[in-house]
Amino acid sequence: MISAALRGVRRFIDRRLHNAAPVILMYHRVADIPIDPWGLAVAPARFEEQINALTQVRRVVHLHDLVEAERSRSSRDKPLAAVTFDDGYHDVYSNARKVLQRHDCPMTLFVTTGTIGTDREFWWDATSRIFLETEMLPANLAMEIAGTTIHWAVPPVAQQEGRKKIFQEVWARLRVLEYESQLKNLEQLGRWAGCDLTAREAHRVMTREEVRSISDGLITVGAHTVNHPTLPAHSIEAQFREIAESRQACEELIDGPVSAFAYPFGDYTDATVSAVRDAGFSMACTVEAGVVRPHADPMKLPRLYVGDWSGDGLLKRIKDPLS
Ligand SMILES: [Zn+2]
Repeated sequence: MISAALRGVRRFIDRRLHNAAPVILMYHRVADIPIDPWGLAVAPARFEEQINALTQVRRVVHLHDLVEAERSRSSRDKPLAAVTFDDGYHDVYSNARKVLQRHDCPMTLFVTTGTIGTDREFWWDATSRIFLETEMLPANLAMEIAGTTIHWAVPPVAQQEGRKKIFQEVWARLRVLEYESQLKNLEQLGRWAGCDLTAREAHRVMTREEVRSISDGLITVGAHTVNHPTLPAHSIEAQFREIAESRQACEELIDGPVSAFAYPFGDYTDATVSAVRDAGFSMACTVEAGVVRPHADPMKLPRLYVGDWSGDGLLKRIKDPLS
């Protein structure tokens, strides 16, 4: 009698667990980095723990198979997940790839094609390097950004809160600029700080060859624009160029078709979505938290941000995605 009741409870729990909707996880980096203002990095040991935990409770499938796999999934099968990485950092190649291979865990890598193969860091890392990691800076900064000269008093590095505030303000202003203006402002900042902005090994992006060889069937490549702009801040023509040219560059890099896109910073409008569709993509990922519901718009797929958590921490978040 008791065991029958327990079996009933067990069946109920199984059904609840197995009925869980698919989730798409969003990563950026797998690295040990001391200063990480946007929480982009997961430490290598933690990433192994997370993928180990994830693959025990979920079947991880390719992003492009997720909708079809959910349709054909029986209630006895594990619920589904897909894993994605944005941007194209080298540590995904050197640290994440082997963990994914060990666990036979598919992944989609969204590549910012204009930075791949260059010796530049992403502009947000260069900005962090200047304001959060350079000990000695001049006490004052005056910089013309988008036609307005802005003045800041710069505290010593020990006053991290003050430095962080300037970093965030400059970041917010640079984020909406045209790429060329962003570069010009960065170079100016580098000269002001006396800081060489050539990419540090710990922050560099993948080479073209690394992108080519990471795309091996287990890992597929998607596009993430050419220069990582805040798309809605630009004309629709400029948005389309960023989107379509990144698709073309990805297809040339891997010598194969590319069907998935991720909106930089998760920013889009209806016009952006149309541009992504017109550029030939069949799915696109946002940064809105949530599960993939039946009939979800394939051009606005939600994703769950993953932080530097334990394996259990990740499972808790997956169980309660909006917490
Ligand atoms: Zn990105």
